[in-house]
Amino acid sequence: MMSTTTVSSEVKKVVTPYSRTNPFPAKVLKNCNINGTGSSKETRHLELSLECSGLTYNPGDALGILPSNDPELVTAILEEMNWDGKTEVIISKQGETLPLLKALTDYFEITLLSKKILQQAAQFTENEDLHKLLSPENAGQMKEYCYGRDLLDMLCDFGPWSASAQDIVSMLRKMTARLYSIASSITAHPGEVHLTIGAVRYHAHGRDRKGVCSVLVAERVSEGDTLPVFVQPNKHFHLPQGDKDIIMIGPGTGIAPFRSFIEERAVTKAQGRSWLFFGDQHAACDYLYQDEFEQYQQDGVLTKIDTAFSRDTEKKVYVQHKMLENSKELFEWMENGAYFFVCGDKSRMAKDVHNALIEVFEKEGAMSREDAEAYVNDLQKQGRYQRDVY
Ligand SMILES: Cc1cc2nc3c(=O)[nH]c(=O)nc-3n(C[C@H](O)[C@H](O)[C@H](O)COP(=O)(O)OP(=O)(O)OC[C@H]3O[C@@H](n4cnc5c(N)ncnc54)[C@H](O)[C@@H]3O)c2cc1C
Repeated sequence: MMSTTTVSSEVKKVVTPYSRTNPFPAKVLKNCNINGTGSSKETRHLELSLECSGLTYNPGDALGILPSNDPELVTAILEEMNWDGKTEVIISKQGETLPLLKALTDYFEITLLSKKILQQAAQFTENEDLHKLLSPENAGQMKEYCYGRDLLDMLCDFGPWSASAQDIVSMLRKMTARLYSIASSITAHPGEVHLTIGAVRYHAHGRDRKGVCSVLVAERVSEGDTLPVFVQPNKHFHLPQGDKDIIMIGPGTGIAPFRSFIEERAVTKAQGRSWLFFGDQHAACDYLYQDEFEQYQQDGVLTKIDTAFSRDTEKKVYVQHKMLENSKELFEWMENGAYFFVCGDKSRMAKDVHNALIEVFEKEGAMSREDAEAYVNDLQKQGRYQRDVY
């Protein structure tokens, strides 16, 4: 299928055969951990080649990666069920088939459980615990059971099973692509796309768990390998014209699109001022792209940087505290027409930053809470307050 991408800044049309349904096998050019020694995190800086794909992107767009599952988890499922990985299974309504090993590795989500999966599975087992869990009065426990558990847990916990491999895979959801905010400017790196990926690892219910895509990148992808990718344009998150000021709030992996913004502004020699707020745990090991951003500041591409390292001080300091410390200047920039961007954690950071922005207007603009909220809503409507949060 041919898809057409319109690149808004220069209005150039790019025709590429690659899309979400037909991803491009992008070669890995570089894959390294950008956290230093002593960090509790692992963040991968990934560089991919888009050569010969016809794919392009704008700062603010995302890249989709279609991942594959952890082979150790797939093997554990095959062993638990005594299944032969070579058995052909039907994977779609159209009757396409794949060997079970490949289907579990590349085609299905095996790390997600849902009520629907448990309900369907219940017809293949007499296990009382599962039937109890599914009764309406246990809805809360059912939800709790699914959180942090995967297909292997269900198969281990609720046997013995009278299900074939086909019965089980027919319940599974097709693997979904993971999106990553693009961390490069294609003008600065022709034919390339860079990403900033935080490895998701946690321990739950007696096992170490790994995020499918982020840990694939962290543990099993090397230079020269390929990853299936597509560009996901984001028309709600983009740089304004060159002479406008921008304020960027990007703690953790939220920094990604702002590396793209700054690279783009450096090559296009944009005139507007730019102010970056970055935050993470420790300055010594978690300041992502520190050298690059400090160089941009020295070169005058980046006007200001404010950082918040929450674990370096007794009292935790986050980006929203830095905004409030700089409220007078932030208000002046906004009054002067600056654009305000937020990227990163949706559950807490984005809310705290939103509230801090309202507080800045309340305090410096002598507005009531209601007026400040209305002002911030209006900024959103005007496209001067844009968020890329997840
Ligand atoms: C528009 C957009 C842009 C994004 N940009 C970036 C980016 O630039 N960088 C980046 O790193 N990510 C980004 N993400 C997030 C990214 O898409 C993935 O969601 C992330 O990498 C995790 O995917 P995964 O396959 O590794 O983990 P998955 O296999 O999808 O597992 C993640 C899931 O594990 C579960 N989980 C996590 N921790 C725990 C816990 N402690 N206990 C129980 N369950 C838990 C949660 O249900 C969580 O949803 C972005 C997302 C969106 C939508």
